[in-house]
Amino acid sequence: MKIADKTVAQFHYVLKNEAGETLESSQGNEPLAYLHGANNTLAGLEKALTDKEAGDKFSVTLQPEDAYGERQENLVERVPVKHLQGLPSKNAKWKAGMIAVVHTEQGQRQVTVVKTGKFMVTVDINPPLAGKILTFDVEVLDVRAATDEEVEHGHAHGVGGHQH
Ligand SMILES: [Zn+2]
Repeated sequence: MKIADKTVAQFHYVLKNEAGETLESSQGNEPLAYLHGANNTLAGLEKALTDKEAGDKFSVTLQPEDAYGERQENLVERVPVKHLQGLPSKNAKWKAGMIAVVHTEQGQRQVTVVKTGKFMVTVDINPPLAGKILTFDVEVLDVRAATDEEVEHGHAHGVGGHQH
């Protein structure tokens, strides 16, 4: 079966920056599963996955506009420090340059700490990978038809997908 709209594909990926350094990898973890054609993954990655089948391996390099968008200057917000999550350990303190997770009405998003204060922290709300040229090495593991429920929810269920 080929990847197309209303299919769920499982894949492993290694994400590299322009210098070839690995930024993220799903190897050793669960593969990622997504519902094709539902804006579940980056536009450029979804396009490259179209028509691929289980066992296919490929690399795709995405310009920022096909990945996380261009970086916008001065896209900063002040948020209460207690709203930041993701400290590496309980006694660690937020420092400039660290990446934190904040919960918004649109769901979780990653932000970069710019400046810390006692109660408020200034964060850059650009996605951390905005403005970067990214290469994905992808291995497609499985392709199957989506269930009616997955199509209705707009996301994949099961291993690597949305857990309810
Ligand atoms: Zn669901």
